[in-house]
Amino acid sequence: MENVQEFMAGVVRKNPGELEFHQAVEEVAESIAPFLRKNPQYAEANIIERMIIPERTVIFRVPWLDDNQKVQVNTGYRIEMNSAIGPYKGGLRFHPSVNLGILKFLAFEQVFKNSLTTLPMGGGKGGSDFDPKGKSDMEVMKFCQSFMSELFRHIGPNTDVPAGDIGVGGREIGYMFGQYKKLTNEFTGILTGKGINWGGSLIRPEATGYGCVYFVQEMLKTQGKDLGGKVCTVSGSGNVAQYTVEKLQELGAKVVTLSDSGGYIYKEAGLTEKDLQFVFELKNVKRGRISECANAIEGCKYIAGERPWSVPCDVAFPSATQNEISKKDAETLVKNGCYAIGEGANMPTVPDGVKVFQKAKILYAPGKAANAGGVATSGLEMSQNSIRTAWTREKVDQKLRNIKINIHERCVEYGKQKDGYINYVDGANIAGFVKVADAMLDQGVV
Ligand code: NDP
Repeated sequence: MENVQEFMAGVVRKNPGELEFHQAVEEVAESIAPFLRKNPQYAEANIIERMIIPERTVIFRVPWLDDNQKVQVNTGYRIEMNSAIGPYKGGLRFHPSVNLGILKFLAFEQVFKNSLTTLPMGGGKGGSDFDPKGKSDMEVMKFCQSFMSELFRHIGPNTDVPAGDIGVGGREIGYMFGQYKKLTNEFTGILTGKGINWGGSLIRPEATGYGCVYFVQEMLKTQGKDLGGKVCTVSGSGNVAQYTVEKLQELGAKVVTLSDSGGYIYKEAGLTEKDLQFVFELKNVKRGRISECANAIEGCKYIAGERPWSVPCDVAFPSATQNEISKKDAETLVKNGCYAIGEGANMPTVPDGVKVFQKAKILYAPGKAANAGGVATSGLEMSQNSIRTAWTREKVDQKLRNIKINIHERCVEYGKQKDGYINYVDGANIAGFVKVADAMLDQGVV
């Protein structure tokens, strides 16, 4: 890559219409271009040109019977992006918006994120345009079984180990694991996020949210601040958002918002632990809508059709989906005094929004650094499966915390600018790149 613009023109030409993938590649290309000029061995071996093409992509038909015995069909995908430093690893997303471009962006990001964790995990991502919302447990099970009936031939404990993502939680992982076991007659760690009684790790459900908060703690420390008493806005109300709130509450922060695709809730006095318990039950058991909090929680308002970024806060935790913070949202956040962003979601801020944060020199943690705790703890689940043991909650949490501290240090190492400002985007991209690129150099042209 001699020139980012020319390089990107090629990416766009060869991957038409895959806007999120272009966005993710461009961000990395801009970060690593100066580094590549100083370290020509990577450009000479066309490392980045190789990294943007998946090692393998599998696309398959997923037919299933709904509760009325009607035949339904969805498309299934697995992108095996890069295995230079370990087996492919990354989540499965079930959401109607899923397409090849979205999964390629997620798989590409995953390569860098997994590298940052220091654990031996390559990058992958997969999923389907299936929408679990509004489906019965039986329908979800039938879909998961059909999905795994094809996926099982492509995964394995030393090949590719998927996990959860949007629309894929403990229930879906259970059904897929059951089907894998039936088809192969093997009980092995081919998925992470498993139930605690059958090979799962303590702290895995909490890990992405907790890890994001740990990373923000490290960022705040660089300015002598902590989270105690700080007003925090959180978007989403799924796995990542729920445990982000839990950890923030434990640290004495005041969380004032949560959302879903319908709108957001706002409680000025801050959500209590009891309110959070209500959300756990609402989202994970009843599978209801966040709007229902307005009737059930005193002092809680529901704002339909909007995202929570106009609410003044000290720290914002976007934890729903990609591109959920527009340029205007970013400007509003900065104008209202927000001084730190921890991205629980993957690529939740549009590129122009990232520029707004960086120009204002606020603390900005991109997803691949901030939310790497989930996959890191998946890596710890794999280790426990391999040695057939189960570590305590405290032990896993301590390892997670250390990994996040380490990722922060590596971002500072590669991202600190002359004026002292830490560009966490550059830091994460370069630190993530170096390890994978060196492994690719060592392994030759494969
Ligand atoms: P969940 O499915 O548990 O929750 C997703 C939440 O985001 C829901 O509240 C959902 O609302 C909302 N949401 C999803 N799509 C949209 C949309 N298009 N617009 C507005 N809101 C939306 O997913 P997770 O919590 O697991 O994932 C959230 C984010 O975190 C994703 O970006 C994911 O890639 C990322 N992530 C997850 C990890 C994990 O370990 N689970 C690890 C690292 C990153 P609704 O119910 O209305 O759809």
